[in-house]
Amino acid sequence: MTQKIRLLYFSRATRDMTLSDMKDILTAARTNNTELGICGMLCYSNRYFLQALEGDRKEVCELYLHIADDPRHDELEMISFEYIDKPIFTDWKMGYASSSPLFDKLLAHMELTEFLPEKIKPRHALALLHNLSAHQDEI
Ligand code: FAD
Repeated sequence: MTQKIRLLYFSRATRDMTLSDMKDILTAARTNNTELGICGMLCYSNRYFLQALEGDRKEVCELYLHIADDPRHDELEMISFEYIDKPIFTDWKMGYASSSPLFDKLLAHMELTEFLPEKIKPRHALALLHNLSAHQDEI
């Protein structure tokens, strides 16, 4: 039986991302992830990305290495890698959220005034993505 995993990482964008940049990333992600049986959630704010990838272990690990090669970001840091019974982002091949009043509110709960993923505990990072997944940006 294939083992399912959830991998979380954050990274720093190498330049400010425009809406068009995010559309390019999400279009490629949604096409590829559908084929790979991977789902997840991506958020972008303050030039940081935070992403959750869920799916079969081999596919997720390979995709992570592929994404890590992308010159649009660097300083990748994996913050969590866990075996899961069931994915939680199944409705999204790659959901997306960026800065919003809700985002600010969720950050304030973690006593942050700006998005600094290295200051967020892994379980809080997952909760943040899960909360944002219910209030996504339509792109
Ligand atoms: P190609 O488009 O041929 O890409 C070839 C190479 O060029 C790749 O290394 C790619 O990273 C790079 N590249 C592509 N477009 C640009 C550009 N506009 N500027 C600079 N370099 C570029 N892909 C997924 O499949 N699933 C995901 O969940 C996913 N999440 C991502 C999250 C983040 C934060 C980022 C930055 C990228 C993500 N991507 C994701 C995109 C991924 O890195 C690849 O660009 C995409 O998978 C297409 O790769 P390719 O080799 O098939 O195609």
